[in-house]
Amino acid sequence: MTPEEVEQRGIVVRTGWEATSIEKQEKFVVVENRETNTQERAAFDILAITTGAIPIRPSIPGIDFQNVFALRTLADGIALKAQVDRWMIDQEKRAAGKGEPFNVVIVGGGYIGMELCEAFAKRGAVVTILEKADRILGSMDTPVTQIVEETIAREKIRLLKETTALGFEGSMGMAHKVVTDKGEFNANLVVLAIGVSPASALAVSAGIATGIRRTITVDSHMRTSAPDIYAAGDCADATFIVTGKKTYIPLGTTANKQGRIAGENIAGRETTFDGVAGTAQTKIFDLEVARTGLSSLEAEQESLDFFTSTIKGRSRAKAYPAGKPILVTYTVERGSGRLLGAQMVGQEGVAHRIDTLAACLYGRMTVEDVARLDLGYAPPFATVWDPMLVAANAALKEMGTR
Ligand SMILES: Cc1cc2nc3c(=O)[nH]c(=O)nc-3n(C[C@H](O)[C@H](O)[C@H](O)COP(=O)(O)OP(=O)(O)OC[C@H]3O[C@@H](n4cnc5c(N)ncnc54)[C@H](O)[C@@H]3O)c2cc1C
Repeated sequence: MTPEEVEQRGIVVRTGWEATSIEKQEKFVVVENRETNTQERAAFDILAITTGAIPIRPSIPGIDFQNVFALRTLADGIALKAQVDRWMIDQEKRAAGKGEPFNVVIVGGGYIGMELCEAFAKRGAVVTILEKADRILGSMDTPVTQIVEETIAREKIRLLKETTALGFEGSMGMAHKVVTDKGEFNANLVVLAIGVSPASALAVSAGIATGIRRTITVDSHMRTSAPDIYAAGDCADATFIVTGKKTYIPLGTTANKQGRIAGENIAGRETTFDGVAGTAQTKIFDLEVARTGLSSLEAEQESLDFFTSTIKGRSRAKAYPAGKPILVTYTVERGSGRLLGAQMVGQEGVAHRIDTLAACLYGRMTVEDVARLDLGYAPPFATVWDPMLVAANAALKEMGTR
């Protein structure tokens, strides 16, 4: 929504003003106008802190070069696109094989890094991804990440795993090279996509309690430790419904729900936000990749007794044209058979299937419960045993109950 559209709902919007401190006893916020540098006090009865997150920019040499970007705001996106557009003016020459390659280095192989690599590759850039872990997509399990890695290799994306960016070399304010622990790489443009940290400084300096990764600690009503002060979105924590512990998984879907709950409570309606399952979907070239709950790596970090079960199914009945393979992997608690997490990859039918499994996590269902779900079947949409049911039956077999 534009500020004008928000104002039509009777809400006062003041863009260009930054909140610089919170006086929680006197109940006002000091706000500063970015253009005029003037300060004002904004009094409140109830305050909601929804300051979001800030992209991580490590203090490494050359980080301030003009062509080392992060992608967070609309303005960041426009600036990035302008850089590519400038280069692409030479497109005809490039098409004739006479142009210089446009080297884009993406630091970080998470969701944003992967989505960016597709976008740049489609504009004709030569893309290199640097990832310090042994796999892309964070803690996702290797049967899934391997398929994604094969796909991006086919698209001529160079992926360097276990590689850490140490700095940038360049001249006239522009980086020309990325220096890593595995050598140097030419770069016309660099995008840092190595995660975000909660924008909680305002809350911290006001003495409001923070927790995991310096997120603002909130209860299920989105109340902070300070009376009459709420927080929601990427600056706040959430409960992970699988473990019952606090977590930080900053996503727009959570920010929206937490914002609604904060608003309802502020307006006097007692609603609660139970937590997140870490459900996320992404598209990487022709693949849909999705996850919910714990991966095996995360289950290991939680010291849980678990096993994984992986199957290959199909998006549609075999006899029906155009079905595609789907890989499903479950993380299952040993003994109880409780579903702890699920991941999927395939060319179709993945992104929305994961939502069923997210619902199973909310219901604390076992794989036995999942195996009995009345999931729909018609040849254009599923196999008679949906891949989610096949995966549940495979897990039961692993447990010795099939
Ligand atoms: C490239 C990209 C792709 C994404 N894709 C997805 C996706 O597919 N699905 C998904 O669920 N999520 C996605 N996300 C995450 C999603 O955008 C965020 O989780 C969501 O925007 C968080 O909302 P928020 O309101 O908490 O914070 P924000 O949207 O960051 O809003 C915070 C606002 O507060 C302002 N602000 C900060 N400090 C102050 C201050 N002191 N004074 C005044 N104003 C201040 C900021 O300028 C900003 O406008 C994506 C994010 C990025 C960057």
